[in-house]
Amino acid sequence: MALLDLKRQTILQTANNNTTLTQRPRRLRTSPALRAMVRETELNARDFIYPLFVRHGEGRTEILSMPGIFQLSVDEAVREAESAFRLGIPAVLLFGIPAEKDPIGLENFSYDGIVQQAVRAIKREVPELVVITDVCLCEYTDHGHCGILNTGEHYHHELPEGYVLNDETLEILGRVALSHAEAGADVIAPSGMMDGMVASIRNVLDINGYENLPILSYSVKYASALYGPFREAAQGAPKFGDRKSHQMDPGNVGEALREVAIDVDEGADMLMVKPALHYLDVISKVKDVHPELPLVAYNVSGEYAMVKAAAQNGWLDEQKVTLETLTSIKRAGADMIITYHAIEAAHWLST
Ligand SMILES: [Zn+2]
Repeated sequence: MALLDLKRQTILQTANNNTTLTQRPRRLRTSPALRAMVRETELNARDFIYPLFVRHGEGRTEILSMPGIFQLSVDEAVREAESAFRLGIPAVLLFGIPAEKDPIGLENFSYDGIVQQAVRAIKREVPELVVITDVCLCEYTDHGHCGILNTGEHYHHELPEGYVLNDETLEILGRVALSHAEAGADVIAPSGMMDGMVASIRNVLDINGYENLPILSYSVKYASALYGPFREAAQGAPKFGDRKSHQMDPGNVGEALREVAIDVDEGADMLMVKPALHYLDVISKVKDVHPELPLVAYNVSGEYAMVKAAAQNGWLDEQKVTLETLTSIKRAGADMIITYHAIEAAHWLST
C-alpha cells in the first residue's frame, strides 16, 4: 500500500514537472545584480548635451517656467560649462540673448555677439568640452521669427505677407555659422528648418577653411506646443503668427524621413529629432533608416517644465521620472540627449 502511495506521488511530481513553465522571464529579475547584468539600455552622463542660455551683463537670472535653469552672463556660462564637464557631460549647446533686436538680427553674426563671446570664453577655460552652437534667427530678430520676413524691400508678391523667406534666410544662416566657427565652436547646429540649410552652411564653412567642422542638423523639428518655456528663456517668441510654415506637423512621420534623407544628402554629420518624448516613434524610425549617423534627441523645455511642476507639487518622484524618461529616449534610438536635466541626471547617476 505504502509502495503504491509512493509510486502515485512520483507520478504526480512528474506530472507537475511537465506543467512547469519553461519560459520564466522573471528569473532574470530576481536580484538587483541580475537585473543590472541584463539591462539593455543604460544611461550615462556621456549621453547628455547641456543647453545654456547666455546673455549680456552680470550674474544669472532663473527662468520662471524652468526651475534650476538660468539666463547666464558669459562668466556664469563658463562656470556652468565647468560643472557639466566635471560631471562627465561631453557637450554644451549655446543659445544667445542679444543686447538689441532688429529685423535681420545683426548681433547674430557679429564678432562681439553674445554667443561668439561665450564660445571663446568656454573654449579658453574648458577646452576639452564640446561647444555646439544653435544657428537660427528667432532669438535675434525683433519679430521673433526664424528668418527674413516677406515684407518691405524683400517683398515677394507670390508669397503671403510675413512669410519666412527661405533663400534670403540661408544667406544669414551662413554668416552666423561662419562667425561661430571663427569664435571656435566645435559643432554648428542649424535649427530653423529652412530648406537647404545644411548644404548652404556646409558650403560657407568649406570655402572658408572649416571643412572639418561638423554640422548637427535639427533635421526633424516639429511645430510643437512644448517649446513655451524655452521661448521665455531665450526671449524668442514670435510677435505674431506661428512657425508652421517651416516646422513640421506633429502628425507626420513619412515627412520626417524625407527631411532626414535631404540632410544626409546635404552632408549633415549628426541628425536630430525635436521634441523627444512625444516623438519616440520618430526617433526609432530615423535610427532604423540611418544607423550610420549619430542621432540626437532634444528633451525640450516643456518636457522639463512638466516634470518640475509635478515634482514641486509632490505628484511625481523627479529623479525616477527623469531617469526613466531619458532611458526611454535612449532606448528609442537616440545616441545623445539634449536635456535641461543633464546636470541633475549626471549627479543622480554618479551616486
Ligand atoms: Zn528659430
